[in-house]
Amino acid sequence: MPESIAIESLPSTSSLTIKRFKSLGVNTYLDLVNYFPSRYEDFSLLTSIGSAQPGETVTVKGEVTDSKYQVTRTGLRLQVFKLKDGTGEIEIGFYNQPYLLRLIKKGSILSVSGTVELYGRKMTLKPKDYELVSPDSPLKHTGRIVPIYPQTRGLSTRTIREKMYIALREKYDETLPLKIVEFNDLVGKDYAYQTIHFPDTFPSSQKARHRLAFDELFTIQLSSSMIKKQWEKETVSHKFKDTDSIRKQITKFINNLPFALTSSQIKVWEEIYEDLRNNRPMNRFLQGEVGSGKTVIAALGCYFSFLNGYKSILMAPTEILVNQHFKTLKELFKDYPIKIGIYTASNKNPEGDIVVGTHALISKKFNVKKVGFVVIDEQHRFGVAQRAAMKQKGINPHLLTMTATPIPRTVMLTLHGELELSAITEMPKGRLPVKTFLVPPFKRSNGYEWIKKEIAQNKAQVFVVCPLIEESEVETMKSVKASKKEYDELKKIFTENRLGLLHGKMKSVEKDKMMVDFKNGLYDILVTTPVVEVGVDIPNATIMIIEGAERFGLAQLHQLRGRVGRSDKQSYCFLYSTNDNPETVRRLEFFSKTNLGTKLAEEDLKIRGPGNIYGVKQHGFIDLKIANITDYDLIDKTKKAVDYFIGHYKIEDYPYLKEKVINLQSDGISRD
Ligand code: ADP
Ligand code: MG
Repeated sequence: MPESIAIESLPSTSSLTIKRFKSLGVNTYLDLVNYFPSRYEDFSLLTSIGSAQPGETVTVKGEVTDSKYQVTRTGLRLQVFKLKDGTGEIEIGFYNQPYLLRLIKKGSILSVSGTVELYGRKMTLKPKDYELVSPDSPLKHTGRIVPIYPQTRGLSTRTIREKMYIALREKYDETLPLKIVEFNDLVGKDYAYQTIHFPDTFPSSQKARHRLAFDELFTIQLSSSMIKKQWEKETVSHKFKDTDSIRKQITKFINNLPFALTSSQIKVWEEIYEDLRNNRPMNRFLQGEVGSGKTVIAALGCYFSFLNGYKSILMAPTEILVNQHFKTLKELFKDYPIKIGIYTASNKNPEGDIVVGTHALISKKFNVKKVGFVVIDEQHRFGVAQRAAMKQKGINPHLLTMTATPIPRTVMLTLHGELELSAITEMPKGRLPVKTFLVPPFKRSNGYEWIKKEIAQNKAQVFVVCPLIEESEVETMKSVKASKKEYDELKKIFTENRLGLLHGKMKSVEKDKMMVDFKNGLYDILVTTPVVEVGVDIPNATIMIIEGAERFGLAQLHQLRGRVGRSDKQSYCFLYSTNDNPETVRRLEFFSKTNLGTKLAEEDLKIRGPGNIYGVKQHGFIDLKIANITDYDLIDKTKKAVDYFIGHYKIEDYPYLKEKVINLQSDGISRD
């Protein structure tokens, strides 16, 4: 069975290659065939040498009649081969691959794919890939549509292709009931694996992709569905009583808050309250913009738990967030006999009715026996792991997961159907939405003049975010250079003002100093790169300039804009863009008018696809390998297929599905 053939069984494969595969999570042949190509190259046009046309991408096959090492006038090192078939001769020059002279011997038969070029009267082939032709093995790198893999951890596409070919000699069992395969008009599983890697035609690769995407969505939804069913059968270890006296105390707590809850907060609290009175453990997901007031909702749950004599746990992914929650809860409960504990790597004080901590909280030392309510902030994987760990300790509490990450509702329903959803859809009263403007190029200098005045008259502070140079989560040297250039240019314009520069390649003491100095008002303008982590909250900063705004996704723009508007002063965000493409303008105008993160995320999803919703991947909310989350048709089909499966089959009879579902359910435990 391919799932039990270890990757170590690959013939003539170095231990380094094995190690690299393992670091990609490929441990078996089955894992390997599930490592999908990101795209293909079409080398399927075979031609005789004599009829090769300049400019064409072709594959030619012939006998090697000559090979030599050559250095061009410009100093390039070439390995040049002459290839001959019955119709003509062609020259092929590889750059800087000296080992080829040893590998490709005179007299051998070589197949090469590349573009035909004419030099004077000499026909040459600029090679893209090559392989020695042997009678008992079909072509893998040339003469066909070839798969291109995301090259990672030192593995080349060629190596992956070679090994893939071996793994594909096995037979892969059908994983779904035949009825479901037929009803949904899917190609068979074995065919899908063969074809996604080595398709005969592009339409057949599409069919394979469709089948595998179906499987991916099917298993995720099956897993959600099973978790939900399981969850419905479970009972909480500590049932919350809901007496008159408890209800009165909660109302009193709400009335004594320093602010009135928004109607959205009240609605969400009612949903949670309903769940918490149940015998069945709550599994609810709460989404709400940064600053929309999620913490107080979590606090209400903790209070309900406390009034029942149980403890609560609040977990957050970073120490900064934990400290912030600790302070907030202390403040909220300052007039109540509730003790708040804290548990992080540097602060271990877990005694309390409510304990706030990082995932260090899951550690064995921590006693959870009396825990009735658990809140997880900003980390989905946490929730799964945390719950599993608690259950191992014999505790089954109510669970609330919270996030400010704008995840479209459709995505949540599809990928996390086991969760009940709640959303805070309005901001507390009195918050001034950041006024956002798309500034056309001819108004740029007006904008600068206005900002100068704001600095002079109102001591405003300004962030200038440089354009996104590369679509990457890490800051590259290019971005750093761009920020330095921007800094120099702005210095010439804002001659009266004090400018600071902050980028990720600075030493961390320098970064800290810059942040502190900016916060203390030593600079008026801070020029920074898009990915630099502005960890410090600067309420006095009220102006945000985003250069090259068209390069950012809407959700990402929203994150940047969120660094201003953190006080009762009116804040402004200026989008500078030189791109006047109507679609770009429409998108940025939409952003200017929309202050709700989830709305922006929905729009992003429509325009750019799920990979681009900032921050969603890292938090473990979307993790699709092959399916497309905007393929609503397929989502609908797989959902129906899951219902049919549950109604007609037993998962025990489908070991592959069972294994997948178990893996999905224990996700996070293995990662943390
Ligand atoms: P987040 O949803 O990002 O976790 P917080 O819970 O930290 O937001 O709330 C942000 C700030 O808003 C806090 O200072 C909190 O006290 C305050 N706040 C929460 N709800 C309200 C409300 N209904 N009216 C006014 N201020 C509120
Ligand atoms: Mg929060």
